[in-house]
Amino acid sequence: MEKSKIKIDIKNCLACGGCISVCLQDAIYMISSKANLDDKKCIRCGICIKTCPIGAIQESK
Ligand code: SF4
Ligand code: SF4
Repeated sequence: MEKSKIKIDIKNCLACGGCISVCLQDAIYMISSKANLDDKKCIRCGICIKTCPIGAIQESK
């Protein structure tokens, strides 16, 4: 069974850093001015989803 995952739409990412600063798991990091997510560290708390000003972070099945 596939668990839901957090996905970042990097095409729209503004590199504001908001998601990185709120993630308590250190699961998001910047590559070439785009936010990237480490699935192994992410606990799917959803805080980053609420933080992104442009809705670029979503939960997907
Ligand atoms: S869902 Fe939570 S743990 Fe996962 S990247 Fe977002 S803030 Fe970090
Ligand atoms: S909060 Fe959204 S726009 Fe800002 S760095 Fe994270 S994904 Fe990109």
